[in-house]
Amino acid sequence: MLGQMMTAPLLISGLITHAARYHGSTEIVSVDTGGGSEVTTWGQVEANARRLASALARRGLGAQARCGTIAWNNRRHLEIYFGVSGGGFVCHTINPRLFPEQLIYIINHAEDEVLFIDSTFAPLLAGLRDALKTVRLIVLLDPVVGEAAEALPEMIAYDDLIAEGDAGFAWPSFDEATASSLCYTSGTTGHPKGVLYSHRSTVLHSLACNLKDSLGFSAMDVVLPVVPMFHVNAWGTPYACAMVGARMVLPGPGLDGASLVGLVDRYRVSVALGVPTIWLGLLGAAEAANSTLSSLKRTIVGGSACPPSMIATFRDRYDVETLHAWGMTEMSPIGTVNQPLAKHLDLERDALHRLRENQGRPPWGVELRIVDDDGAPLPQDGRTQGQLLVRGHFILDAYFHMSEADTLQDGWFNTGDIATLDPDGYLTILDRAKDIIKSGGEWISSVELENIAIAHPGLADAAVIGVPHRKWGERPVLVAVAADGKQPATAAVLSIFDGRIASWQVPDAVVFVEELPRNATGKVLKRDLRATFSNILTG
Ligand code: ADP
Repeated sequence: MLGQMMTAPLLISGLITHAARYHGSTEIVSVDTGGGSEVTTWGQVEANARRLASALARRGLGAQARCGTIAWNNRRHLEIYFGVSGGGFVCHTINPRLFPEQLIYIINHAEDEVLFIDSTFAPLLAGLRDALKTVRLIVLLDPVVGEAAEALPEMIAYDDLIAEGDAGFAWPSFDEATASSLCYTSGTTGHPKGVLYSHRSTVLHSLACNLKDSLGFSAMDVVLPVVPMFHVNAWGTPYACAMVGARMVLPGPGLDGASLVGLVDRYRVSVALGVPTIWLGLLGAAEAANSTLSSLKRTIVGGSACPPSMIATFRDRYDVETLHAWGMTEMSPIGTVNQPLAKHLDLERDALHRLRENQGRPPWGVELRIVDDDGAPLPQDGRTQGQLLVRGHFILDAYFHMSEADTLQDGWFNTGDIATLDPDGYLTILDRAKDIIKSGGEWISSVELENIAIAHPGLADAAVIGVPHRKWGERPVLVAVAADGKQPATAAVLSIFDGRIASWQVPDAVVFVEELPRNATGKVLKRDLRATFSNILTG
């Protein structure tokens, strides 16, 4: 016997129609590529998204045609998110920081037919154009004038394209399992791999994001996604915000600390999301500008481990709660969020602060387990370290154009992370399996050492890598960037580890560099550092 309840497919168009109907006048601030700002509303975003869907259909785009975007966080990009997916096409967000060969590979692999680009990226695209086999329409999100127009004369303007669309266009209905959007992992090793989200997985991910014990957006919030819309759909923020009608501030290209502090204070931002390096910049700029960040209530930090010293600065100096979150492109991306449980209210203040430092626990929709090298489950006792596997409603079952057998392990996805899980499901990421340091028979977590090192007042940035060692196989080395005007001595830097970790875990050496190499999503390229410093301990 089936239940007798109404059933309709869970579609992304349903998110934007809800936002337009019940939050139609709710404002969205958008910084454009030139640095100016404009204000739009959920109602206008929905109307333009429908025009866009209609215009693409009129231009003969078939169902599931891939439409790439190379764009900042701005309102046209937001319209494309909903217009492309809602119209039954696939929105493929592309990270402009990838190498040109990777960009060519993924655009051809995705078989993008349309590309939407901000003028910033016109010269980049002009250099690749001849190698792009399937692209037949390039749409500029700015007026087609000046350098951008010269770089790619075939381009048409976004505003002209949507003017071709029918304002009365009705959103189509189709199977909720239909593909909606596509993101490629940054491919630090090998070719980037595509993750093809569905309408259903996106709607369920949005629900999971909006749980109060998760990211918990609401119509009362002003949400600033600093995380780019080309990095795992800005962690799903545009969809989750539409679902609850939250106000949004889209920061455009200016992601430096001073610009962000300006946006937070001017538009009374209550929640902001981004990777740790972004917040280093913001905290420095807030101090320099004497801002108290008075409107900000929560920051959501993920993508790399959030150092406890950053959580403490937000809390103690600005009265801002940090939600430390972990996830992956393959997971839409939210896997865990650090939110307390009722029983933690009785904890001493310091113990509660420590609890808030790990990567958190999974919302509904995500299951976690840790296993040994043979795939056998390990105890979730908060101590045993193992390979982290995941499964759930918004986790991939196969990479784009690959099989499930190539992607999963007994129905679970292996994250490539080494972690512990406690009995309540709180996750602590020790490292990526390829970065963990194997010294003698023991493992040393580079993340743990980095979290300690970054709190040193003489350092602006820090990474720890495993370097070959004759006796121990590998030993940790701290690669550090000195803070402006500081020249800390090695012994002074290493003293920060005293009493915080076992003495055999303390790095054997400190090397200073001008800047840490990072990949397209802001993660430190440890492989490059290991290659550079491979023989500093063996001579
Ligand atoms: P890519 O693999 O393309 O660089 P992802 O954003 O999908 O990009 O990276 C996911 C990985 O990032 C995770 O497997 C994990 O290693 C790391 N990561 C994400 N969030 C955290 C976090 N809060 N703490 C530690 N590592 C994290």
